[in-house]
Amino acid sequence: SHWVFDFAEGDKSKKDLLGGKGANLAEMSNLGLPVPPGFTITTEACRAYLAEGREPDGLADQVSEHLDKLEKDMGRGLGDADDPLLVSVRSGAAFSMPGMMETVLNIGLNDESVAGLARQSEDERFAMDSYRRLLQMFGGTVLGIHGEHFSDAFDQAKDDKGVTDDLDLDVDDLKGLVETFKGLIREHAGIEFPQDPREQMDLAIRAVFDSWNTDRAVLYRRQERIPEDLGTAVNIQAMVFGNRGMSSGSGVCFTRDPASGDQGEYGDYLQNAQGEDVVAGIRNTVSLADMEQIDKTSHDELLAIMKTLEAHYRDMCDIEFTVEQGKLWMLQTRVGKRTPEAAFRIAVHMADEGLIDMDEALSRVNGEQLANLMFPRFDDKAEKKLLGVGMNASPGAAVGKAVFDWATAVEWAEQGEDVILVRKETTPEDLHGMMVAKGVLTSRGGKTSHAAVVARGMGRTCVCGAESLDVDTREGEFTVRGGKTIVEGDVISIDGSTGEVFDGEVPVVPSFVVRHFEGEEVDQPLVQAVARLMEHADSKRRLKVRTNADTAEDAGRARRFGAQGIGLCRTEHMFLGERRQLVENLIVADDERGQEAALDELLVLQRQDFLEIFEAMDGLPVTIRLIDPPLHEFLPDITELSVAMAVADVRGQRKKRQRKLLAAVQRLHESNPMLGLRGVRLGIVIPGLFTMQARAILEAAAERIRGGGQAQPEIMIPLVASVRELDLVKARIEKIAHDVETELGQEIPHKIGTMIELPRAAMTAGEIAGSAEFFSFGTNDLTQMTWGFSRDDVEASFFSTYLEQGVFPVSPFESLDVDGVGALVRRAATDGREANPDLHLGVCGEHGGDPLSIHFFNEVGLDYVSCSPFRVPVARLEAGRSVL
Ligand code: ADP
Ligand code: MG
Ligand code: MG
Repeated sequence: SHWVFDFAEGDKSKKDLLGGKGANLAEMSNLGLPVPPGFTITTEACRAYLAEGREPDGLADQVSEHLDKLEKDMGRGLGDADDPLLVSVRSGAAFSMPGMMETVLNIGLNDESVAGLARQSEDERFAMDSYRRLLQMFGGTVLGIHGEHFSDAFDQAKDDKGVTDDLDLDVDDLKGLVETFKGLIREHAGIEFPQDPREQMDLAIRAVFDSWNTDRAVLYRRQERIPEDLGTAVNIQAMVFGNRGMSSGSGVCFTRDPASGDQGEYGDYLQNAQGEDVVAGIRNTVSLADMEQIDKTSHDELLAIMKTLEAHYRDMCDIEFTVEQGKLWMLQTRVGKRTPEAAFRIAVHMADEGLIDMDEALSRVNGEQLANLMFPRFDDKAEKKLLGVGMNASPGAAVGKAVFDWATAVEWAEQGEDVILVRKETTPEDLHGMMVAKGVLTSRGGKTSHAAVVARGMGRTCVCGAESLDVDTREGEFTVRGGKTIVEGDVISIDGSTGEVFDGEVPVVPSFVVRHFEGEEVDQPLVQAVARLMEHADSKRRLKVRTNADTAEDAGRARRFGAQGIGLCRTEHMFLGERRQLVENLIVADDERGQEAALDELLVLQRQDFLEIFEAMDGLPVTIRLIDPPLHEFLPDITELSVAMAVADVRGQRKKRQRKLLAAVQRLHESNPMLGLRGVRLGIVIPGLFTMQARAILEAAAERIRGGGQAQPEIMIPLVASVRELDLVKARIEKIAHDVETELGQEIPHKIGTMIELPRAAMTAGEIAGSAEFFSFGTNDLTQMTWGFSRDDVEASFFSTYLEQGVFPVSPFESLDVDGVGALVRRAATDGREANPDLHLGVCGEHGGDPLSIHFFNEVGLDYVSCSPFRVPVARLEAGRSVL
């Protein structure tokens, strides 16, 4: 196999094989940009290594060939005692996993070559600094020694000397640290630091392969839904040195602001530093504008390259670079992660700049981002006590109790507390804490720091680099310079859009985007970008979007949000509260007259319910599901009732009604109510309920029509398994429709259809379609019934284990199981349409608002999706994206 590719052999299309970093390094080399030469070991080699537990045959030889070539090109040998070639060994998977995996710099240094490097560079401090970095990274990454051992020793050295800046350590201090670090390796790994350069390199390669399976990498992939079996590539690249004095440095930049989407370059630069110093937030960085003052030539060249890259990738790029003694080198680029706000704004800006068209712009944003933008913000008018201001790294308004380590964050979050994770800076170890926190606050690091990058990726609110806050994680507190101290458990509020940190709980208000959807004029660049992309999505999409709404209020909001009707109006809540009594009356009635009296009372109330909904959705179709849940849900609890009866007995006050009620509750009691007397089964066994509802719907529609409006009721029968069930119920409803039309002398356009939510219904959809005018896929029940999962129980009991063990990557209740449940949907849609070409098809499960599921529903040719009001804009956007 071809395990190793030179940078010159790759390009950006080969991400799967070369990883994102390798493919883009190749792309940049081929564009003629200044990239230190090197080569890439493929993800295929990593997969083979992980499967076999050893390096695949031929890999070592191919690495040697490419290393020879690199040495020739550079005119130096790896780790040569007089003039050493040094390399970095860098991980790089197909999907970016910022900070998740391992990289080792300065490979090739040993006790001899460090002297050679010192002579060649005429800078012994630089050589020693490079060596101590190698020992530190090699010890941590390759030998698995806890990083704190090294950083504690490093801090100790600074303390001993009474300095705070890394740069104040001189060559002798660094020599001392080199010895200390070697001692730490001896102590914790039980070996001497390997002096053989090739052995260093081979061990580092292996460590990169292994880093694919570290806990934090596994966790990150699950969070980001990245497949487990891709593996990482490994890049071996000649070193360039940002730590070679003050005319050198390292930096990270973006071609646009990744937080706001504003046009114009954005970046952080650090003099006399190697790359990882910038991201780690160890020292405070300067802006690109400041870099221009320091080294105008490199700065201008960098800006020109940023333009080239953005034009080439036609997207916002994220770039890592190093300057070695005034010479600029490019070390990485990729299409940059961005906040939801930036995604919308950048897409529209780029379309306006002619870099992409509107279809492309639409493909650059997604429903999850839009959902994020609909979150509430802090109230501008509320009184706030400002504690400090950091950088607006990832937007949102987060309120919670301050916690200072990831373990407490997890523990408290599990107890249902909202927490804000506060750190000096974050490391990949904090990942789990960041996932459960409402927000992340750091006192160090810029918008390109680990905290910022990871929080943005997760859509988590983040304020970083709030330098005026003195964070003490050991004590569990932070102190505002010259002011208040916040201790663990105190409530704080952080604004990821402004970078502000507030004392206490600040009230939140609706987002600009929601206010815009509500019809308000909102003069915000973000709102304009969202509006333009929504308009484009609406012009593209084939799927209609309806809403699940049970009240006129929800229906009205959904309509303002763009809903084109109601796909599911649940009627069960209409039997709760005071109306419970009426349902009890129905059930305990001694005879038909008693039942009818109870039903008549319900009819009046139901008619009014439906009338209000028809008003709110005037002119648009309204699908109403007849009563679905088991009846006992409307009756008193069996135990409570028995106790009440016993008490009454003792007091000698037996009550007739209670006794009857208890008998009814006992009669209706079921072991598996979700598989019991519910849905169409109720309609067949207690026909009065269904017919009352049908009458209420039709009378309300008639009233609406006579009042000059337009009502389009669609009566939906739940839980049908066989066409016979549907026919029985449908005949009765049709008779009612006929009666109502005659009584009122008014034609009432209406449809009768069914839910497809049982596997048997899906498998016999052809027959059912003969009796139905529409199908609505009830994918919640269909998922429950197909997998045999009780959806009220499984999420809490064993889903976490299932997710961990990879039975599915995401709960099938969240995102449709395309292979299983989806196959039933596809078959039912096809068979149904074949039997009845006019059959109208929709979906009303939670999946109707889930982006991935929406793409599937578009593909199988449904007519509409239906989702909760707040998901309607998301569904519109995704329905538009699904046809691109
Ligand atoms: P990550 O994927 O975590 O960003 P990288 O492989 O990009 O890890 O390495 C981290 C940093 O190390 C880079 O930003 C870069 O500054 C520095 N680095 C990597 N390779 C080299 C090299 N050949 N010369 C100089 N610096 C390097
Ligand atoms: Mg990097
Ligand atoms: Mg159902």
